[in-house]
Amino acid sequence: MLNRLEQQAPDALLALIKLFKADDRPDKIDLGVGVYKTADGATPVFAAIKQAEARLVAEQPSKAYLGPEGDMGFVGALIPHVFGNAAPEGGRLDGMQTPGGTGAVRLALALAKKAGVTRVIMGTPSWPNHAQIVSDLELELVGFSHANPDGSANMDALRAALASAGTGDAILLHGCCHNPTGVDYTDAEWDEIAGILAASPALAVIDVAYQGLGDGMEADAYGLRAVMTCVEEVLVAYSCDKNFGLYRDRVGAFYVATGDGDATARAISNAAALARANWSMPPDHGGAAVRVVLEDDGLTASWLEELESMRIRIGQVRAQLGAAGTAGGVDLEPLGRQKGMFAMLPVSKEQVQQLRSDHAVYMAGSGRINVAGLTTDNIDKFVAALAEVTG
Ligand code: PMP
Repeated sequence: MLNRLEQQAPDALLALIKLFKADDRPDKIDLGVGVYKTADGATPVFAAIKQAEARLVAEQPSKAYLGPEGDMGFVGALIPHVFGNAAPEGGRLDGMQTPGGTGAVRLALALAKKAGVTRVIMGTPSWPNHAQIVSDLELELVGFSHANPDGSANMDALRAALASAGTGDAILLHGCCHNPTGVDYTDAEWDEIAGILAASPALAVIDVAYQGLGDGMEADAYGLRAVMTCVEEVLVAYSCDKNFGLYRDRVGAFYVATGDGDATARAISNAAALARANWSMPPDHGGAAVRVVLEDDGLTASWLEELESMRIRIGQVRAQLGAAGTAGGVDLEPLGRQKGMFAMLPVSKEQVQQLRSDHAVYMAGSGRINVAGLTTDNIDKFVAALAEVTG
């Protein structure tokens, strides 16, 4: 029976990591993998997380099972940072821990399906796993173009997509630091989106995977909070894997808000049942470490400071790229205005290949780059290589 299975393509970015490792050119540049890097090319463990882990090792009394909801102390401690004053009250908001943001997206869409959603409206391009999860859940994907060529958000396409939305539709939005385009909605655009959603039958699903890496923890939450203020029913998928540097520890949370506490409790009971059937319960360690950080003012301050230094470095690289103007056939100016770790370059698959073979510059076949892979030392080489290949 199993020999009927067809070979699946390996994950393209993981394959790129291997190729990069095997390349012995000393000036190679990795813009492929989606992790933050320091100016030295490292992806270190946050100091606050190291301390929290040490505390857990010394003090954690038991590793007995929690439940499908995971560490509710972690889930609760995140709420003020994510929702601020927009956190719905009276039991209308509740959540659970998930295996990474991926688990949270999966849970949000599976719950939406259980509630009657059949189509997911989404700007494209998007994080490739969005489409894979939609397809795996046998939901229909309705795409619209997320970004304009000038590097702004395509509001006309979003308005049109929402105007034709009906009952049974969900709309999946990136809360901040859009992956892969870096094109975020402005605050005024979010205000408009919140207003449209308030009058729309479409269910809002907001994926927040990079809070703190765009304009800062509070500013990056603007869109989510604007929607929460205007719209009663919202599903939120949250990842701590980037902003706490916990990638492989798989730390995420899923939140649901509805119009009343009973409906939220019922939604959570359904989410718990889905989690049980999928992963039983999330891995504990990373979520527990985040909880320890968030329950301690000193560790929280240390975490926020380190996160801010990452955000500033990303901003500096973006500013330098933006100031470079054009490189061959590529206008880099919009990259200076965009947010987060990612940007899309208008390059062909052949040009991506040529950048790799001739210049040791590694990026995804789609033309997505991780700007955190650039430093003041290698940015000029990158811009020159791009100019040569696309000129
Ligand atoms: N959503 C988006 C938009 C992402 O880019 C990512 C990570 N690449 C995720 C969710 C999932 O993150 P995690 O590693 O926590 O599963």
